[in-house]
Amino acid sequence: MDVDKQIAALQADLNAAHHITYLTGAGVSTPSHIPDYRSKNGIYNGISESPEQILSEETLFHQPAKFHHFVMENMYFPDAKPNIIHQKIATSCNKNGTLITQNVDGLDKKAGNKHVIEFHGDLYNIYCTKCHEKISYDSYKKSYLHEKDQGIIRPGIVLYGEPINEKVLTKSVEKIHDSDLVIIAGTSFVVYPFAQLLAYRQANAKIWVVNNTPVPAPKEVSTIIENAEKVFDKLYI
Ligand SMILES: [Zn+2]
Repeated sequence: MDVDKQIAALQADLNAAHHITYLTGAGVSTPSHIPDYRSKNGIYNGISESPEQILSEETLFHQPAKFHHFVMENMYFPDAKPNIIHQKIATSCNKNGTLITQNVDGLDKKAGNKHVIEFHGDLYNIYCTKCHEKISYDSYKKSYLHEKDQGIIRPGIVLYGEPINEKVLTKSVEKIHDSDLVIIAGTSFVVYPFAQLLAYRQANAKIWVVNNTPVPAPKEVSTIIENAEKVFDKLYI
């Protein structure tokens, strides 16, 4: 089937769906100029340490300057704007859907999406690890130490080795289970436990993948191998 026919088939499923769950990853934010850190040309290139090593509690607490420098240089893009994918998913979710995203950039909320589950947290939910006070991005940008108590400041994202918040996990499973349509976009879908969410789908739910490279998925999944931005641009939501 050519891509236009596939998009038409996805459109028909969208029109018929009662509750939709979207699962998204870095590929949804690359059109907003946020680099995909897991891709070959991602932000970790040229850095001798792996992302697993740097984005860990170990580095956060024992080499806080390195951690801070890394996230400021490579992860924060406060001027980034939502693109057509964020916007259309927001419109769809505000009607009858939920988004579960791996992205920590906050662009879905910026797009006005009121039903977002941030599976790996939010870069802008910044707090002091000593007193748990909320810290503004502007303060965190200046220093990783809380002036008041010298506590180390961190972003509320799930670091490598940390578990997914239990409430987030439970809510995600519920939403997948309640959906008759699941659309996976802009993710290679290999990050555990995010990739396992699909196991909780209804037996008769329609599943679509929109990604520029093939994704490991069960055979009943319909796949559109195309740039997610091009596909969402053509969808009527
Ligand atoms: Zn503090």
